[in-house]
Amino acid sequence: MNRFLSLPLLLIALALAQSCARDPVLDVGEFAPYVERFETESQRNGVPVQVTDLIIRFGQMLTPSERGACELASGATPIITIRQETWEKMDEAEREELLFHEMGHCVLRRTHRSDISTKGVPSSIMNPYLIRGSVYLKNQAYYLRELFAGQAPEDLARGL
Ligand SMILES: [Zn+2]
Repeated sequence: MNRFLSLPLLLIALALAQSCARDPVLDVGEFAPYVERFETESQRNGVPVQVTDLIIRFGQMLTPSERGACELASGATPIITIRQETWEKMDEAEREELLFHEMGHCVLRRTHRSDISTKGVPSSIMNPYLIRGSVYLKNQAYYLRELFAGQAPEDLARGL
């Protein structure tokens, strides 16, 4: 009896396997150096990440105040969209911070973290608002540890 049932089941299993076996797409264009740095920093912070399925491109935002956005849909390659006009006015620190924030969503699948440290600066680059480039640079080691390890060590957090 099993032999007669197994063919349709096998076909269903094959169809399911095919729909799940989506080929990853890596299309990050001129943003490649930031993706490489993201991988390097993830390794340095003890949580190695390899970015294999991601699209980064310039495009329009839903609201004018947005600089970047991460689009996550099941069964599709995550897409980061960056507003070009804003990107061109940003310094290197802010560009890295913006892309790392969006990769935090699109690669690490992190959500926003809004709390503020005792010194009045955001506790995470997963803050919904962009942190000033100078603040990011001053606390870069802390922010990168927090981004990848989720929780920064006490001694780093104390200095924030
Ligand atoms: Zn965000």
